[in-house]
Amino acid sequence: MEEFIVTVDGPAGSGKSTIAKIVASKYGLTYLDTGAMYRMIALYALENNVNLEAMLENTKLDIVGNKFFLNGKDVSEEIRTPEVSGIVSPVAAIKAVRVKLVELQREISKGKKTILDGRDIGTVVFPNAQVKIFLVASPEERARRRLNEYKEKGIEADFESVITSIKERDHIDSTRKESPLMKADDAVEIDSSVMTIEEVV
Ligand code: C5P
Repeated sequence: MEEFIVTVDGPAGSGKSTIAKIVASKYGLTYLDTGAMYRMIALYALENNVNLEAMLENTKLDIVGNKFFLNGKDVSEEIRTPEVSGIVSPVAAIKAVRVKLVELQREISKGKKTILDGRDIGTVVFPNAQVKIFLVASPEERARRRLNEYKEKGIEADFESVITSIKERDHIDSTRKESPLMKADDAVEIDSSVMTIEEVV
C-alpha cells in the first residue's frame, strides 16, 4: 500500500485528537497520537527520577488501538493528568527525546495511510505529507474544552489553572529550539473556536 499521510498540528486543546480520530475512522486511516508518546516519556520521568539516557534506553512504548503501554503497563489514563501536562513540554523540548520519538512515528506510519496529530508533524516528521492541517482555537475555548475533559474524568481542576497551564505549554512548545510548534507553509489553517466538530471534520 502506498504511504498516505495526513498531519494535524496545533496548540493544546485545539481539537486535534477529536478531529483526527473521527477522520481516521471515516476514511480508514490509522490514527497516531504523538502527544501521548511524549506524555509517556514524561510520566516515566515523573515516576522514576532517572537521568535522560537511562530514561530513553529503558522505556518501551507500545500503542494498541487507543491504549498506551509504557514498559508493558497500560498508562492511557495516567498520561492525561494535570501532573503529566505540567511536565511534558520541558521533556518534549529535549533533542534526544524528539529524535527517538520522531523515528518511532515514521516507523509506525511506514507504508500505511495514517493521520498523525502533534506539533511538528507537518514541518519535521512528514514535511512531504499529502494533507496538512493546522488547527487553532482561542486560549479561553481551549481551556474550557480541557476543563470539560477533566470534569468527565473526575479530575479536579479550575479554569484559571487550566488556562495558565495551557498558555505555559503553548509558550514552551512554540519557542523551543528543537522543532517548535508552527504552521507549515503549505498547511491549511482552521480556527475551531466557533465551529462544531462536524464542521471541522
Ligand atoms: O497533544 P498533547 O497535548 O497531548 O501533547 C503534549 C505535549 O507533547 C505538547 O505540549 C508538546 O510539548 C509535546 N508534543 C511535541 N510534539 C508532538 C506532540 C506533542 O512536542 N509532535
